[in-house]
Amino acid sequence: MSILDAFFAGSRLALSKVISHIENNGADLSRLLPVLYAHAGKAYKIGFTGPPGAGKSTLVDKLAALYVQGGKKKLGIIAVDPSSPFTGGALLGDRVRMQNLATDENVFIRSMATRGSTGGLAVSTSEVAMAMDAFGMETILIETVGVGQVELDIADACDTTVVTLVPESGDSIQALKAGLMEVADIFVVNKADRPGAAKMVSELNIIIDLKRQNTGWELPVVATEAVNGKGVDELAAKIAAHRAYISSDSRADQHRQRKIRATLAHVLDKEMKSLIRKRFLNEEAILDYIKRIQDGSSNPYEIANNILSSLKQDKP
Ligand code: GDP
Repeated sequence: MSILDAFFAGSRLALSKVISHIENNGADLSRLLPVLYAHAGKAYKIGFTGPPGAGKSTLVDKLAALYVQGGKKKLGIIAVDPSSPFTGGALLGDRVRMQNLATDENVFIRSMATRGSTGGLAVSTSEVAMAMDAFGMETILIETVGVGQVELDIADACDTTVVTLVPESGDSIQALKAGLMEVADIFVVNKADRPGAAKMVSELNIIIDLKRQNTGWELPVVATEAVNGKGVDELAAKIAAHRAYISSDSRADQHRQRKIRATLAHVLDKEMKSLIRKRFLNEEAILDYIKRIQDGSSNPYEIANNILSSLKQDKP
């Protein structure tokens, strides 16, 4: 039985192998990914982003438990661990916390390292989510630290994006990164047991009012205490409400098209980069470019243009 046969027969080991294959950019991905794509599209993907330490893992853990109890059996969890030093040790913490879920045979948890320097969403996260989707997961929770480009990535990859903040970030709320504002479908103020939480909720409510008027979505702010599960029911209810909102007759098509647009852009970006790297950027060529730039006979723009021109002249 091939791995794909085993995958479609429901083998978790095969799912694991398929995911590793994607992460390692293994052979024949260009044949594998379209097959997965054809079987995907049914899972509901919920993204969690926000600063490190805000309580995202705790929240995802509690929400996952709620979903499992509530009968949403087939659940995938992707925890993206930035390999940069600022989270030190979080990965182990996540594993320990999620242990009770990890033994549930319908829950599949995967931790991914970002490898890159930007933190946040690993390049292949959306493909890993697609593999879980094709495998038959009904709900997929994707958790990552929100830094830089990642906010946009997570919003592209998910149907509902939850931005988690904590009272400690209250003072800087005015300066809240535009990216986080942009992508949030739901705001969570976690650690509501700490001083300043109520103030932060009301400040947020004021700031996002304009966005509410522009989009027509209520853009809720939910106060939670993830450690003891408080507010998690309400969060689940808001996620369900957002799902109903984007699935309504007038919006469903728009949402689907937005997802396709994002996937297309993502795939093209990835393929173009890999094509250019493979054809034009071997070590020898790069050293030659560096030499030419250093001795002043060329510059990075000219080299990039030359590469693109050769690409255009290439016969397929
Ligand atoms: P992440 O980095 O965003 O995934 O955050 P974690 O889930 O790892 O949580 C960071 C720390 O905050 C942990 O020690 C949690 O136990 C703690 N924490 C999570 N939720 C709450 C909460 O509601 N109140 C308080 N006081 N601590 C919390």
